[in-house]
Amino acid sequence: MIPISKTIMGKEELKAVKEVLESGMLAQGDVVKELEDKFAAYIGVEYAIATNSGTAALHTALAAIGIKNGDEVITTSFSFFATASCVLMQNAKPVFVDIDPRTYNINQSEIEDKISERTKAIIPVHLYGQPCKMKEIMDIAEEHNLNVIEDAAQAHGAEYDGKKVGSIGDMGVFSFYATKNIITGEGGVITTNDEKIAERARIIRNHGQMERYIHECLGYNYRMTNIAAAIGLAQLKKLDKLNERRISNARYYDKRLNADKPYVVPGVKHVFHQYTIRAKERDKFSELLEKNGVGYGIYYPVPLPSQPLFNSGGFFRVAEVASKEVVSIPVHPSLSKEEVKEVVEVVNSYE
Ligand SMILES: *Cc1c(COP(=O)(O)O)cnc(C)c1O
Repeated sequence: MIPISKTIMGKEELKAVKEVLESGMLAQGDVVKELEDKFAAYIGVEYAIATNSGTAALHTALAAIGIKNGDEVITTSFSFFATASCVLMQNAKPVFVDIDPRTYNINQSEIEDKISERTKAIIPVHLYGQPCKMKEIMDIAEEHNLNVIEDAAQAHGAEYDGKKVGSIGDMGVFSFYATKNIITGEGGVITTNDEKIAERARIIRNHGQMERYIHECLGYNYRMTNIAAAIGLAQLKKLDKLNERRISNARYYDKRLNADKPYVVPGVKHVFHQYTIRAKERDKFSELLEKNGVGYGIYYPVPLPSQPLFNSGGFFRVAEVASKEVVSIPVHPSLSKEEVKEVVEVVNSYE
C-alpha cells in the first residue's frame, strides 16, 4: 500500500529529542523560544508564538484580537473543522462563504455580501497548500476594518506575491500535526508583526498570566513542550527540501495524469500539502485505488456549513459539489520514483 501520508523522522530529530530529554527541561523553555525565533525568521515576521496544536493557535489568535460573544467571523465553507470551531470557542458566529471551484479556496468575490455590522475578522484558509487571493482579501479587510487570520495549517512555505503565507494577514496560524508539511506530532504556531497581538497571544497561551500567579484574562494551557520544539527545529531546516519534493511529485502527476488535475494560480507557490483531483463517480474511483494499493484521502466529505454543529443554513453549491468529488492522492516527500509511477498507472487505468 502506498500511504496518503508518511512521517519522515531522521537522525537529527532523534538527536534533538534526546538532548531535550537529557536536559530535563521538558516543558516550554529555551527550545520553544528558539523554534519561535527561527520560524518567525523563516516566514518573515517579527513574532511567532508556539502552541500545542494548530487548533490552539487558531483559538489563541481569535482571543488575542478580542473576538467575543455576538461577533461574526467570515471563513470558507470548505476546510477542516477547526477553522470554524475556534470561532465558537469565543462564542462568536462563523459566517461561511462558498469557494472557487478551481482552487477550493474561499471565493473572495463573495466575501463582501456576508459582511455585517458584527463582522470582526476573516479567516482565509490556504487549502491543500495553495495561497488564497490575499490582495483582494486584504483590500476588503482594510475597507471594512476587519482583522485577517490566515489559516496556513496546510501551507508552510507557500508564497503569494513573493511573500510567505502567514506574513500577509494580521496573523498567520500553522499546524505541526503529524501529517502536515512539517511536524512535531502535535503542535502549532501563530505568526504576526503586531507586538501587542503577540503579547496577548503569549499571555492567553499561558493561563492568561500577566505575571506569576496574576491572571487578568481567560487563558489556557496551550504551551508547546521543548520536546516538540526540538523536533520542529530539525524539521524546519528540511522544510524547503521537503516542499520541493512535494512540488516535483505534483509536476510529475501534472504531466502524466489524465484526471481532472489541480489548478495552480499563476505566480503563487503552491506547496502541495495535498494533490487533489476530482472524480465524478468517486466511490468507483476510490475502490479502484484501494484495490490497487494506492492510499487516498477525502478532504473534506462534508462542507463546514453542513456540519451538524454549525448547521448554518444557506446553500454552498461549489463546496457541496467539491465535497462529493475530491480525492487526494499521495504526494508526500517520501514517495519513491516507482511509487509515483505506480500511482499514475493506477489513476490512468480508471475508465
Ligand atoms: C490541521 C488543520 C488545522 C488544525 O490543526 P491541528 O494541529 O490538527 O489542531 C486547522 N486548519 C486546517 C486547515 C488544518 O488542516
